[in-house]
Amino acid sequence: MACGYWEDKGAIRSSNGTVLREIENTNLMILRSDLQRVLVAELKDIPVVLGARCTGVSANGQAPVLRFDSGTSVEADLVIGADGIRSAVRQSIAPYEDPPRYSGLCAWRGVVRAPGLVDSAWLSVGNGLQFLAAPLPDGNVYWSPLVKLDEGQWEEIKDHRGFLLDRFDGWHDPIPTLLDRTPNDTLLPTPVYFRPPPRWITSGRVALIGDAAHPMTPDLGQGGCQAIEDAVVLADRIVVAGDDIDLALRLFAERRLARIRRVVREARQMGAVMADGHQTVMRLRTTALRVIPARLTDKRLSAITAREAFEAQLAAT
Ligand SMILES: Cc1cc2nc3c(=O)[nH]c(=O)nc-3n(C[C@H](O)[C@H](O)[C@H](O)COP(=O)(O)OP(=O)(O)OC[C@H]3O[C@@H](n4cnc5c(N)ncnc54)[C@H](O)[C@@H]3O)c2cc1C
Repeated sequence: MACGYWEDKGAIRSSNGTVLREIENTNLMILRSDLQRVLVAELKDIPVVLGARCTGVSANGQAPVLRFDSGTSVEADLVIGADGIRSAVRQSIAPYEDPPRYSGLCAWRGVVRAPGLVDSAWLSVGNGLQFLAAPLPDGNVYWSPLVKLDEGQWEEIKDHRGFLLDRFDGWHDPIPTLLDRTPNDTLLPTPVYFRPPPRWITSGRVALIGDAAHPMTPDLGQGGCQAIEDAVVLADRIVVAGDDIDLALRLFAERRLARIRRVVREARQMGAVMADGHQTVMRLRTTALRVIPARLTDKRLSAITAREAFEAQLAAT
């Protein structure tokens, strides 16, 4: 918590900066690199092997066996596939599945030193474009636009900052300043892929967590949060089940599936509404943001992001 930035309010704005809706919601903004540093420090003497690419998992009776590209294999009591959206573990368990779907959107992410420019988080929307900005500790700002692009089109872009300055031409301050101040070679384009809400997250003695289990669109900022929840609930259920790994995995799936399915679904719905650039839909969206009482939308958001929603999964039995 000390490495992040606490914020207790946010806003949805139009492209000219008008605030359409204020949001009461407490968030901790933390850079992935800072979070990873904190987690690694807690590992203490637990060994970590880097540079070991998993090529798949098979079963030896009940015991899963992991294979690596070095030619080695490891038999385990339990395998937790946390290997992201292109999970090799998932692919070897469910080779018949379709690959993740392209959302039609490409995101960029930037971090720039900009003291005083962004003092609370906001998401600005208009013409099928979105631009998010949020403060980080030490006067840094995280920003991330979402732009509609055909699949693979981002690879043709040579000058990312120039492309974004052009797309967001005429948008409110400090968007042009944030773009201007970010060095071109630090801009990270990420085409957004997702899967439909998951029907399973365990198979035999293998559990999937994070994007391996439920890659979602970034519209609720929940992909990483839900990966962490997976890990906490799985650890908790392993403790509850004692040595019985099969029971632990059953309890894990029971506790997590409904919540994950809801978050994936709502992220996608939110994305569809925010990314729509049709004039009629934009007018309806603006009106809805102005007239729907804040307590209703805050309540719906809290059901997903509030601490109580997370802790409810840990209630003993
Ligand atoms: C634009 C954008 C904005 C986002 N914003 C937020 C946000 O604000 N908040 C939030 O919570 N989430 C956000 N997310 C989602 C978040 O980034 C992901 O959900 C999260 O990174 C998933 O974590 P993970 O550990 O499951 O997968 P990853 O972060 O993808 O990590 C997977 C790891 O597995 C390793 N790996 C992959 N394949 C293999 C293999 N075969 N063998 C060995 N290792 C392997 C990779 O090297 C990597 O280290 C955002 C996503 C996008 C695209």
